[in-house]
Amino acid sequence: MKAQVLRKIARIEENPLELLNLPIPQPSYKQILIKVSTCGICHTELDEIEGRIQPKLPIILGHQVVGRVVKLGYNVSKFKLGDRVGVAWIYSACGECYQCKRGYENLCKYFQGTGCDANGGYAEYMVISEDFAYPIPEGFNDLEAAPLLCAGAIGYRALKLTEMKDGEIIAFYGYGASAHIVHQIVKYKFPNSKVYVFTKRKGDASSELAKKFGADWVGETGDTPPEKFHRAIDTTPVGIPVREALRNLEDGGRLVMNLIRKEEKIPELDYTLHLWGEKEIKTVKNITRRDVQEFLSLAAEIPIKPEVKEFKLEEANQALISLKQGKYKGAGVLKIE
Ligand SMILES: [Zn+2]
Ligand SMILES: [Zn+2]
Repeated sequence: MKAQVLRKIARIEENPLELLNLPIPQPSYKQILIKVSTCGICHTELDEIEGRIQPKLPIILGHQVVGRVVKLGYNVSKFKLGDRVGVAWIYSACGECYQCKRGYENLCKYFQGTGCDANGGYAEYMVISEDFAYPIPEGFNDLEAAPLLCAGAIGYRALKLTEMKDGEIIAFYGYGASAHIVHQIVKYKFPNSKVYVFTKRKGDASSELAKKFGADWVGETGDTPPEKFHRAIDTTPVGIPVREALRNLEDGGRLVMNLIRKEEKIPELDYTLHLWGEKEIKTVKNITRRDVQEFLSLAAEIPIKPEVKEFKLEEANQALISLKQGKYKGAGVLKIE
């Protein structure tokens, strides 16, 4: 099978993903073999390639996978041949530890990330335990479904962690694959809430997308919005938005950091300006299967309409460079022929 393989940590500009021909993996106990149709592109891939997360090398990246079940391992009962399934960032968790038992399998000590600790979907085939695959709702085609599996699902977790209520104002720092999906959830669940969006630069592709999705106010990082906001989600790879979100946060408000491995440090915080007033910061780590399941049914109910930019598997390096440079709007997805 064709697969994009990362063999060593490098800057993405060096085109480190190599298109190789590998044997098709075989499903073992409780595993299914998936013929991959699409795989979403996530900022986490840049973190893995550039070494801000340490993947198990060599590795096939990709954790927003949509495809069909083409072979069953021993003792598979949840899926049959031909079923359309999705795979998310959670490849496995132990199910036994303190965190798993209390419903926080995302914090499991033995958590394995798809396309990080086990091969993912930048390939024609992949295997995973049937317990960590999900049926994809019918309303979405394969291209639309891919970004739901991380951008959407982890965005959903981030939104849950904000503990937002209807009528409160929420701000998004960064408006890419995740935020434009979370925005649609906010509009559906919190019809009386306002949404403020901060992008890198006025008039950039992300700010145009935010306007298209009906943001109540759009500015650039560093701007002061018309009112303080109660909740904020940061999906940027840089440090300044953290300080800025805290500055514009209402007392008692909460900032959820969805992209934690920053390419630069968070600037020094001023106690009075940024921290006082019972402001909270919460981070998002990984995802649970429950998040993915809840989000997929909510996405079908709304229904979410992701903005997708399609690339070929062969173009994976270029697609990731474009993501790093903020060159396309919405969610990048690899289409695997
Ligand atoms: Zn992701
Ligand atoms: Zn565990």
